[in-house]
Amino acid sequence: MGRTFAVIAEMRGNQVRQVTWEALGAVAQMAKVEDRVIVLVIGHAIGKAADALSLPGIHAIVVADSDRYQYYEAETYFAAARTFVDREKPDVVLLGHTAMGRDLAPMLASHLQSGQISDVTSIEAYEDGFAFHRPIYAGKAFETKRFTRASRCWVLTVRPNIFPPGGKAGALLPASAAVPERRYLPAPSPTLRSIVREVATKMSGSIDLTKAKIIVSGGRGVKSADGFKPLRQLALVLNGAVGASRGACDAGYCDYALQIGQTGKVVTPEVYFACGISGSIQHLAGINQSRVIVAINTDPEAPIFQVADYGIVGDLFEIVPLLTAEFRKLLS
Ligand code: FAD
Repeated sequence: MGRTFAVIAEMRGNQVRQVTWEALGAVAQMAKVEDRVIVLVIGHAIGKAADALSLPGIHAIVVADSDRYQYYEAETYFAAARTFVDREKPDVVLLGHTAMGRDLAPMLASHLQSGQISDVTSIEAYEDGFAFHRPIYAGKAFETKRFTRASRCWVLTVRPNIFPPGGKAGALLPASAAVPERRYLPAPSPTLRSIVREVATKMSGSIDLTKAKIIVSGGRGVKSADGFKPLRQLALVLNGAVGASRGACDAGYCDYALQIGQTGKVVTPEVYFACGISGSIQHLAGINQSRVIVAINTDPEAPIFQVADYGIVGDLFEIVPLLTAEFRKLLS
């Protein structure tokens, strides 16, 4: 008999978030033709999202649609997810390693009395199962973990922007071309105590840092809020986003919405410019999956140079405008 893989989808408004497609991509790396793939969609007015997920290879879409699910809230979402796993009895549950996934996954693992492996960045076939790789110590090292045979169910969270998307946008899931069955969960119990009325979202700029292909980040070395101006110019020319270290945020030079690192955003751009950033382990935790790192720093001993692909020892206020001018010429 095959296994059942369950993906708990994540919404942004009523759109399916990219990390959900990536979780399906992770399923595609593990599922065989005889396995079943089911998706739980929780939210409000999410019919279109459920339609978008109705793809060949997915066997069932389970919809939990209620105004009480408009915003993520641990108690209500966990109640829906618990009903879902109790009914569907999955062998593997996958969520994005996002604020929601990090909150929900341990509750589900505890409910299922199963093991959990968080922040998975790659999957490898191992004996009759799989081994999962994940970064530890803020990205300084990697570990490989497996579930023991005693674990009834595997709960996994997958790091965003790592797995190629599965389903519509990429690698197809194995199995049938049939239209997935649609099932519905009952409305949340009125006895649930918490209600989220509103969520205030703050944008870090016009380009989402977690999706940006190019990021120009500033650290304490920018010295003031105005010090970010040349960085914004470079980002504009390269159609990139502006990010920051916590040092720059703590100093009040920019908003915390820009913070990258262990306690900020994890980014995976093609090119990451670190300007006036020393390269603390906590900052590197957020950038270590960048394809190319360019560091600009006055201190040749700055730790950022140990991870940088290109290093420029110099004053960012001289170097960044020169780079901007050169890129402008090249790209015009
Ligand atoms: P600094 O370390 O002060 O470095 C400034 C750099 O600028 C120096 O290397 C200097 O040589 C260079 N510089 C100065 N002037 C110029 C110039 N004109 N041109 C070029 N270079 C110049 N940090 C994060 O970034 N993200 C996190 O998510 C995060 N989470 C944390 C979580 C915990 C629990 C803790 C304890 C810390 C965390 N930190 C985080 C903080 C982290 O430890 C560092 O303090 C912080 O990253 C330092 O920021 P910085 O590199 O901008 O500043």
